[in-house]
Amino acid sequence: MLEIDLHVHSIFSHCGLHTVLELINQARATGMKGLAITDHGLTMGGRLNDVFFNRFHCPYDDLELLKGIECNILDEKGTIDLPSAFVPFLDVVLLGIHHNTPKGYSREYYTSLLIRAMEKNSSVDIITHPNDSSFPLDYRSVARKASDMGMALELNNSRILYSRSSIEDTMSLLRICMQEKCSIAVCSDTHAIHELGQDSSVTPLLKSVEFPEELIVTREASCTMKFLRERKKSC
Ligand SMILES: [Zn+2]
Ligand SMILES: [Zn+2]
Repeated sequence: MLEIDLHVHSIFSHCGLHTVLELINQARATGMKGLAITDHGLTMGGRLNDVFFNRFHCPYDDLELLKGIECNILDEKGTIDLPSAFVPFLDVVLLGIHHNTPKGYSREYYTSLLIRAMEKNSSVDIITHPNDSSFPLDYRSVARKASDMGMALELNNSRILYSRSSIEDTMSLLRICMQEKCSIAVCSDTHAIHELGQDSSVTPLLKSVEFPEELIVTREASCTMKFLRERKKSC
């Protein structure tokens, strides 16, 4: 179980099922130390809520509530749908390729699309689900770029739990991250409440490749918070 889950959708995403308070209560009930609400950017129908970013505070002292977003790539120049008005309130910025990007292009195309977006947006902390087979990537180039920029690649529990990414492909991603000394963030990508904080689908993969603990930024709450603090200093 994750102590802090950095990838969680609420009803501010069209695909999320739960309110922020329901997610907070589930996190407390399962003994977690924190969670980040990371709803989709506007391109994917996210209803980013000004009151949430400006005025909402976690009502409990024993839980770290982080505010974030999962952004999308808008064009080949590397523009992403990160609303500048919310940037000062964001604790964590995720970026992933989603279905606003057309399918059917080459590995080279998606790799350079993503790398350009990373280069142009140093405020991005984590690249979500790089093992999405609809958008194949050259893992070595992406891991090298992430490592250079201090970003982490996500190991997404839901992708494996629901068989939406291949295990072989994910293992290959992990091996390349080890070789390139690229950090990973284990996240649940919660849409339904029982998924919150879950990492049990990907833990066996980490064990089987003997993935080094020090490259897992989410290994415990203090490491997650240190990673985010250092990211904020660097951009
Ligand atoms: Zn996503
Ligand atoms: Zn997501």
